[in-house]
Amino acid sequence: MAPYHINSKLPNTGTTIFTVMSALAAEHKAINLSQGFPDFDCSQELKDMVNNAMQRGNNQYAPMPGLMALREVIAGKVQRLYQQTINPDTEITITPGGTYAIFTAIATCIGPGDEVIVFEPAYDSYIPNILVNGGVPVRIPLDFPGYSINWDLVKSRVTARTKMIIINTPHNPTGSILKEMDIRQLEQLAEEHNLLVISDEVYEHLVYDGARHESVLRYPGLLQRSFVTFSFGKVFHNTGWKMGYCIAPAHLMAEYRKVHQYLCFSVNTPMQYGLASFLEYPEHYLTLPDFYQKKRDYFLQLMKDTRFTPLAGEGSYFQLMQYHQISDESDKDFAIRVTKEFGVATIPVSAFYQDGKDDKVIRFCFAKRKTTLEQAAERLRRM
Ligand code: GLN
Repeated sequence: MAPYHINSKLPNTGTTIFTVMSALAAEHKAINLSQGFPDFDCSQELKDMVNNAMQRGNNQYAPMPGLMALREVIAGKVQRLYQQTINPDTEITITPGGTYAIFTAIATCIGPGDEVIVFEPAYDSYIPNILVNGGVPVRIPLDFPGYSINWDLVKSRVTARTKMIIINTPHNPTGSILKEMDIRQLEQLAEEHNLLVISDEVYEHLVYDGARHESVLRYPGLLQRSFVTFSFGKVFHNTGWKMGYCIAPAHLMAEYRKVHQYLCFSVNTPMQYGLASFLEYPEHYLTLPDFYQKKRDYFLQLMKDTRFTPLAGEGSYFQLMQYHQISDESDKDFAIRVTKEFGVATIPVSAFYQDGKDDKVIRFCFAKRKTTLEQAAERLRRM
């Protein structure tokens, strides 16, 4: 009998580029600067806090929206950083990671025919998430090479079916950040056309050169129509824990939780206890911009001796580089060859465009130990 046939919901989607490049890196024993994760361990103190929670017997289901102690400490952080009062009872939900937080917001709001504006290069889960829910992605390119938003272009693409707009600051893969002017434009547009917003802020604390993180949480008008998503893994160096959260006004969060309760119900308990204790010390997040800026600066300094040309980066743990002085290959061919022949894995930025737009730019993750960055630069100098 022929195997059961299903009509694919994602006929044009393959395996994510992160999985592909990390596997290639492992196969060729390359230094892996592709998938975004640190190669150093998270804090011993944090691990002890999680361990203690486990040893004390906190091993059964957490409440569906998340542990109250964790939600309270998040509300405190939001107050301190963005001068915004968030109700931990009704406006915060703990999620298994940032990607899940985004999917759940889309699943909560988007149905067949709803248009969702996404900026390309786009983090690779957004468009499949929209498609799985029957929505229609409306792709708008960021200006090259600064990767800023052309708001006139955005206005021209809004239709009566536009339901949502997804922003991401600091931006993956480009490292660009949105400015106050961008948020004001967004606020105006969203109000005028009654749009929902997802603001993906998983690199929240990773903003450099003294710039301010323009969180949607700073803007009460915009926040009223927004889901703002965060990741603990990205900022506390434990991406494998898959822990994050979503903040939204109570009326939106009530709907979000209806979906969340049947997707995963609740998130693992000891991690939530551990993170709640860890977040009680603001220095654990206040020191992050400096910590990561030093890594970025060190990486840029090392790369000066190569023929790669850095593009401007203002946040996240990614640095884009042009390679036109080295090769005119496509970015995918180039990234594969650099992995195989020079032993450094990166991500080709065309993977973040549905039509494969290739500006001949690759993405490096610099969330790595100094020695890793040194060894990678040493290899890249040979090119
Ligand atoms: N966010 C990570 C990156 O951009 C990857 C996460 C994943 O592999 N799904 O590299």
